[in-house]
Amino acid sequence: MPPKAPAFDACQTRDPIGRDGLRERYWERVPLRNLTPREWEALCDGCGKCCLNKLEDPDTSEIAFTRVACRLLDGETCRCASYANRKSYVPECVVLTPKTLPKIAYWMPSTCAYRLLHEGKPLYDWHPLITGDPDSVHRAGQSVQGWTVSEAEVPEDEWEDHIIEDP
Ligand code: SF4
Ligand code: SF4
Repeated sequence: MPPKAPAFDACQTRDPIGRDGLRERYWERVPLRNLTPREWEALCDGCGKCCLNKLEDPDTSEIAFTRVACRLLDGETCRCASYANRKSYVPECVVLTPKTLPKIAYWMPSTCAYRLLHEGKPLYDWHPLITGDPDSVHRAGQSVQGWTVSEAEVPEDEWEDHIIEDP
């Protein structure tokens, strides 16, 4: 039996990404493989879009996003309720590293900072690294805040009813 998912804890879901003391605009000049672990983590904009369940067309391999979110996602903060221990609760959660990114980037959301940099594109001006404010992603309407449903409440055979455009 899989471990029971923890109750959401405000302390765990507050912005956990430290963006102080990083090299000046490092994402524009340092290759991804040469980033420090803190710089790598700080690239995440906190949008929560990668925690949405996706459906893949078996014929075309086309990916469709749904608004059905992982059971550990807090739909208001857009944070994982148990990031450090997430693999115990959600073994299929993908760990993004400079090594795994090239294989994963194609199904990440098009606004994801990791995907953008992998494709040689700049970050959007609402990214917290540029604004200095972790809430700027929500204010720009670029996060999943307030519009997801939990996979705990929607059976998998109904996910098709919740397909959305690339978020
Ligand atoms: S989609 Fe990318 S930027 Fe957004 S939460 Fe996921 S890893 Fe972070
Ligand atoms: S377990 Fe993984 S997919 Fe689920 S909310 Fe946490 S980071 Fe997102």
